[in-house]
Amino acid sequence: MAQLIDGKAIAADIRLDLKSKVEQHLASGARPPALSVVLVGDDPASGIYVNFKEKACKQIGMKTETHRLPKETSESELVSLIDQLNNDPEVDGILVQLPLPKQIDKLRIIGRISPIKDVDGLGAKNQGLLSLGLAGHRPCTPLGVMKLLETTGIDLSGKQAAVIGRSILVGSPMVRLLGHANATVTNIHSRTTNARALAREADIIVAAAGVPELVKKDWVKPEAVLIDVGIHRNEGGKLVGDLAFDEVEPIASHITPVPGGVGPMTIAMLLSNCIQAYEWRITGDHPYLVY
Ligand code: NAD
Repeated sequence: MAQLIDGKAIAADIRLDLKSKVEQHLASGARPPALSVVLVGDDPASGIYVNFKEKACKQIGMKTETHRLPKETSESELVSLIDQLNNDPEVDGILVQLPLPKQIDKLRIIGRISPIKDVDGLGAKNQGLLSLGLAGHRPCTPLGVMKLLETTGIDLSGKQAAVIGRSILVGSPMVRLLGHANATVTNIHSRTTNARALAREADIIVAAAGVPELVKKDWVKPEAVLIDVGIHRNEGGKLVGDLAFDEVEPIASHITPVPGGVGPMTIAMLLSNCIQAYEWRITGDHPYLVY
């Protein structure tokens, strides 16, 4: 039986640490760190995610405000709001909730966010710094996965890893982070012809394809470490991931549950990036001055 990686508990510990960091800043007379969230349109799932993020910020003593814009918002209107938030000295982090309505170019909006305030780490500057292995904001979900792997105590150096998915949000930055930890990484994606055989060679699988229960027993090497990024509701209304959990759990050494695995870490890493952005801004000492 695999050891369960309890993302909920690990994220709760990280949030407590961040809360005491904020308290220390406030005790020294500084203002609280602040995150501005931008939500365009009325996608119900996005609304729920934004509420979670707001609540998590407040719980650790951060300030947060959400700009709710109608789904007809034009790209130039959104650019103006981003510019206003970039120039606001009281705003440390800016998060634009995805997806955006189709009249808006997502990469243009993300690219408009000042790199130091790009707490999702999705802009070209931060993704470039990640590629080079230099300090910068890392995308929250893959960063959370790295923290989960750290808690297993497994040395990633020289290990074979398979990342399933290559989005800018999860798969691609995940490949880079594992590579920087000296794993040998295979990136499996929708055009890969021998996904099962490649996955089966891996000591670590990170499943982020967005396909319910894609990874079956015959994809998994015995004693592999399995990280499930996917989250879906199946026909029976149950939450499932990209791993066929019941099949793969008995042969893995460690596994994340859905829910309670990667999801809570994504929010914890967002908070962590916000505090980082705040500290970089108040000290004036940050990587964007150099690179
Ligand atoms: P995406 O749709 O942008 O990317 C999916 C990737 O998977 C693509 O690169 C595609 O090439 C690959 N893919 C699709 N079908 C495949 C297949 N059959 N075999 C191999 N590769 C395949 O999705 P995303 O934003 O990267 O998110 C992936 C999943 O993770 C989704 O289920 C999403 O809901 C979930 N997610 C969870 C969290 C969290 O905090 N738990 C955060 C972000 C995303």
